[in-house]
Amino acid sequence: MSTVPFLDLKAHHAPLMEEFVQAFRQVVETNAFAGGPFVAKFETEFAAFCGTPYAIAVGNGTDALWLSLLALGVGAGDEVITAPNSFMATAEAITYCGAKPVFVDVSESTYTMDPALLERAITPRTKAIIPVHLFGQVANMAPILEIARRRGIPVVEDACQAHGAKGGGRVAGSIGQTGCFSFYPGKNLGAFGEAGAIVTSDADLKARIMTLRDHGQAKRYYHSMVGWNARMDGIQGAVLSIKLRGLAAANEARRAHATLYSQLLAGTPGIILPQTAEGNEHVFHIYAVRVKNRDQVLQAMAQRGVNCAIHYPVPIHLQEAYAFLGLKSGSYPVAERCAGEFLSLPMFPELSEAQIRKVVCELKACVAEARG
Ligand SMILES: *Cc1c(COP(=O)(O)O)cnc(C)c1O
Repeated sequence: MSTVPFLDLKAHHAPLMEEFVQAFRQVVETNAFAGGPFVAKFETEFAAFCGTPYAIAVGNGTDALWLSLLALGVGAGDEVITAPNSFMATAEAITYCGAKPVFVDVSESTYTMDPALLERAITPRTKAIIPVHLFGQVANMAPILEIARRRGIPVVEDACQAHGAKGGGRVAGSIGQTGCFSFYPGKNLGAFGEAGAIVTSDADLKARIMTLRDHGQAKRYYHSMVGWNARMDGIQGAVLSIKLRGLAAANEARRAHATLYSQLLAGTPGIILPQTAEGNEHVFHIYAVRVKNRDQVLQAMAQRGVNCAIHYPVPIHLQEAYAFLGLKSGSYPVAERCAGEFLSLPMFPELSEAQIRKVVCELKACVAEARG
């Protein structure tokens, strides 16, 4: 059997090719390149998908986080709380506001922010909390929202890996003051380049974010604030409208693949399987297991024709870029342990049962080998 890829975007796009070509023609013929009607149409559709009144399309997921924080008034000297085991962008958005990222370790079963550790991280300078719906599972939002509400601190969801996921019956992105999405090509909903969106139910926030993303213009060439260029391309809006129609089915397929992986791997010594918390609907952007001697297992899998990945090898607080925070190894033990053990298995909607069985068979062999 040929190599099992980590991700197969070609297989996902092939059946939609004619629709894409038609959409490109429309965008080109109407000069709808930066923002415009295709982006506006996608905003309406994505807001409906998330169950929020508003969606604001932006340039990428990092913009979504950054503009959310700016719109909430986060600035120099403030602190924003998030999880240490996320993609770097979550913390970058905080730093780019002039604020300081403050980390709260994650739960060992879900890998999302541990609400029991949240309260003690809050100070008078805390201006926002960003739970990360890591790998496609909504964080434990009820206790986080309760603490935030009592303290009057807004919650920004990093839903960049969780398009369509649910927690306590609520759709990712619709739970906090804003929900931030990335449409990077490899995400569950991916554009043909860079794109992102913010969803919200707050009309004032929506208005501020719309102004911020367009150079602070309320009216053309009249700038009420210093903003940025964070608009989405027309082409991306058109592509995302087409792909959004298949998102629920694609998520369903990912969930079925995850169930099969977990059934076939259950009880294997040396492999910790992902858990879905009670009441959650996971969308498995990533299906990550935990193994000892992870780097050795990763290499052995590649030699046996299975491409795996690591999300992420170094937690944010230990990145060189954040050395100035002075956070030593041991600060967030769960996130650090997981970073050393996580192994992301191939996961995409078009994965076949034969491919899943091959991944499982090779993984069992590699883990047994690595255990010696
Ligand atoms: C992808 C991602 C981002 C950043 O999105 P970009 O579109 O790449 O800017 C932020 N947070 C998380 C958790 C992500 O996975």
